[in-house]
Amino acid sequence: MDVLVLGGGPAALCIASELNQRGVAVAGIAPDSIDNSWPNTYGIWTDELKALGLEQLLEHRWSDTVSYFGEGGSTAQDQSYSHGIDYGLFDRSALQRYWRERADGVVWHQDTAERVDATGPIASVRCASGTILNARLVIDASGSRTPHIRRPNQGPVAGQAAYGVVGRFSGLPIEPGRFVLMDYRCDHLSAAQRSEPPTFLYAMDLGDGVFFVEETSLALAPGVPYDVLKQRLQQRLGLRGVEITEVIHEEFCLFPMNLPLPDRNQPVLAFGGAASMVHPASGYMVGSLLRRGPDLAQAIAEALANQSLGSEALAQRGWQALWPIELVLRHQLYQFGLGRLMGFNEALLRTHFATFFSLPREEWFGFLTNTLPLPRLMGVMLHLFALSPWELRRGLVLGAAQGQAPRF
Ligand SMILES: Cc1cc2nc3c(=O)[nH]c(=O)nc-3n(C[C@H](O)[C@H](O)[C@H](O)COP(=O)(O)OP(=O)(O)OC[C@H]3O[C@@H](n4cnc5c(N)ncnc54)[C@H](O)[C@@H]3O)c2cc1C
Repeated sequence: MDVLVLGGGPAALCIASELNQRGVAVAGIAPDSIDNSWPNTYGIWTDELKALGLEQLLEHRWSDTVSYFGEGGSTAQDQSYSHGIDYGLFDRSALQRYWRERADGVVWHQDTAERVDATGPIASVRCASGTILNARLVIDASGSRTPHIRRPNQGPVAGQAAYGVVGRFSGLPIEPGRFVLMDYRCDHLSAAQRSEPPTFLYAMDLGDGVFFVEETSLALAPGVPYDVLKQRLQQRLGLRGVEITEVIHEEFCLFPMNLPLPDRNQPVLAFGGAASMVHPASGYMVGSLLRRGPDLAQAIAEALANQSLGSEALAQRGWQALWPIELVLRHQLYQFGLGRLMGFNEALLRTHFATFFSLPREEWFGFLTNTLPLPRLMGVMLHLFALSPWELRRGLVLGAAQGQAPRF
């Protein structure tokens, strides 16, 4: 084998398929059948897919896309903010099928990678079954919890935590036909709860009387506990006189938002969550897989053509292609921004997002999708700063005042 890919999630399928398309001999190792459906639902701004010509992979699409950054109650600021662009949910099986078909030459082993040794010219992976598989390059796409990838310890890692329900309700939890990116209204919370870390509602109308409602914390270390999120969701619905009448699916979500970038000198390459590719400001990654997978696969295919390169040298080429300095610097800017936001109290966070979404659409969209070149990204951040009220500017520059950062 040229390449052995660890994992059976979106990142593994993406990179295996892109390599296969370039004539690379690829095998994969995943604990479950790679035709099993994935547990998570994946959302994306539809313009990201349009740019890739992949809009047919959507199952749901909303044009009425809004957020709320007011306090709630009956204030004028309670008005919804319209994002003015469409949002969609992937048809998970269509996305899986898309990559599976492009990975038609890939051999999949149903097993678990236990030990990876990539120090010699040929890398080897020992699996739980005892099988040992060899390849010139190992790509770890087994998610953010992988033990096979080294990364610096930069302190506690903040997680995006969410508790959600797909179900039916006694009334309308949100306006019919609508997608809500962030509802930060907090009139359902007690004064004590409002001094705790803020959470928001992410919600959508799935049709046929079914809605998905999810109480979400942007990022916190440690993550906001599920019982707190669940209680807040019930309070939020309760204030609007709505009860859950049928639970079709419960989602418990926790993934790292500011996982440090991996050590880029290691002899095993990574992709996806394992490579810290989750956007530190938005928590999204699938669009980035679709954009960055082909270039990475191309760089690997070109490096493999040089037969004298061993595992370590191949991994080096891969790391340089995946995380060039431009993307590393952009990532650092995003991580800095997230660090600031994590210290904001609820009022400051609401002000921040209201200001952020008052930027021109191409600016906030480019920021959230990580599609702006570095100078442009810095320009957008300066623009945001210029538009911010003084209190927010202070928070962005100095961080939240000592003792002000909310904690559970
Ligand atoms: C609930 C939830 C909702 C999310 N929503 C969105 C969203 O709407 N949009 C978005 O862009 N992103 C979203 N994300 C973020 C990110 O896109 C996902 O976490 C995505 O699933 C990460 O893909 P991955 O392939 O890197 O890892 P995973 O999806 O975690 O897949 C890891 C794979 O590796 C396998 N594996 C694990 N250990 C081993 C081993 N030792 N050997 C071999 N295989 C192994 C697992 O079985 C699995 O198949 C969400 C994340 C979560 C948790």
